[in-house]
Amino acid sequence: MRRHDYIIVGCGFFGSTLAERLHSAGKSVLMIERREHIGGNCYSYEYKGTNIMVHKYGTHIFHTDNAMVWDYVNKFGGFNRYQHRVLTTHKNMVYAMPINLGTINAFYGINLRPSQVNKFISSKRGDIKNPKNLEEKAISLIGRDLYEAFIKGYTIKQWGCDPKELSPDIIERLPVRTSFYDSYYNDTYQGLPKDGYTAIFKNMLKGIPIELGVDFIEERDKWRGRCKNLIYTGPIDRYFDYRFGRLGWRSARFEIKKLGLPDYQGTSVMNYADTDVPYTRIHEPKHLHLEKVHTKNTTVIIKEYPHVNDNEPYYPINSDSDKQLLRKYRALAKKEPDVVFGGRLADYKYYDMHHVIELALCKFLSFK
Ligand SMILES: Cc1cc2nc3c(=O)[nH]c(=O)nc-3n(C[C@H](O)[C@H](O)[C@H](O)COP(=O)(O)OP(=O)(O)OC[C@H]3O[C@@H](n4cnc5c(N)ncnc54)[C@H](O)[C@@H]3O)c2cc1C
Repeated sequence: MRRHDYIIVGCGFFGSTLAERLHSAGKSVLMIERREHIGGNCYSYEYKGTNIMVHKYGTHIFHTDNAMVWDYVNKFGGFNRYQHRVLTTHKNMVYAMPINLGTINAFYGINLRPSQVNKFISSKRGDIKNPKNLEEKAISLIGRDLYEAFIKGYTIKQWGCDPKELSPDIIERLPVRTSFYDSYYNDTYQGLPKDGYTAIFKNMLKGIPIELGVDFIEERDKWRGRCKNLIYTGPIDRYFDYRFGRLGWRSARFEIKKLGLPDYQGTSVMNYADTDVPYTRIHEPKHLHLEKVHTKNTTVIIKEYPHVNDNEPYYPINSDSDKQLLRKYRALAKKEPDVVFGGRLADYKYYDMHHVIELALCKFLSFK
């Protein structure tokens, strides 16, 4: 059986960037992916009969300030000029997020000028000196009214608990813009791959053998015997057979529907802030690609319901006990010098796409 210089577990952006770099440097690489498709959580596909590109694991907007990362991904496919804007529905009214001058004026029914915003928000904050939980922290930043309207219900749904039970460290700051500027990201480079993320991955992985539908952990001795070096992008606790216990994650369930309408909600992502609506967001992916001609009178919507599913880890909970566990697993990982652990699952960290690409490009440069 052929031995490879590298076996890479996981075809997300971390694994695929390293695979592409190593392959073009003349190394022999084999990729192993548990799912039946490449692309990790960024996987996209065209919904049959609609010409609408759907992101299977939730809307993914590419954004970065890093020119090296932007130039790198653009080698594998063109991007459109989409700029993300997020709206949120609260008590049947729609507001812009993150909170900006338009949100504040609409919510309070006033007409502040930019220079008046900070003083106005300060008057709402109360006097919480040392916030002990997420609720107190949020109120100390934006005041109780805005917290209860836009943060409280969404947080209860997203994290499945009362914000009073969550650490104040989860939020460092809650941006309040003193202007009407409502673009969600401030990054220099933003967009969506014109042909979807999967096309980008296909181009990155040209010529590299891939075993789909194969779980590395189930036959790890077999695969270890076939490579000199291993790059592992799966969950770190699973690699060590959950020896100290499982790290906590929140997950999401997506409910997809095709509708006979030209447009359902007029935007790509609508948040739902109130707890009487069971989902957190509705995605309508046709709005991500204004350059495309979609099938007439057709749209696709996806409702996102947060829940717990250990097989689909999305957001690290990062409780104090998780932090302790992670320290123990990282100590074990240090004892495996010929294994590179990386990406969101192995690092147990929420990363955006551009973060993992940058980390993988830097990791490649560190190889001798
Ligand atoms: C709902 C949601 C929305 C997001 N939106 C954005 C966004 O708008 N913009 C943005 O920049 N980022 C976004 N992200 C983050 C983005 O998804 C991640 O940055 C990116 O997927 C990380 O890539 P990765 O390679 O580290 O992990 P992944 O993409 O998860 O890839 C890891 C791969 O390893 C495979 N694997 C795991 N264990 C094994 C095993 N034992 N054997 C074989 N294969 C295995 C998995 O199946 C997976 O395919 C979002 C994330 C979520 C959850």
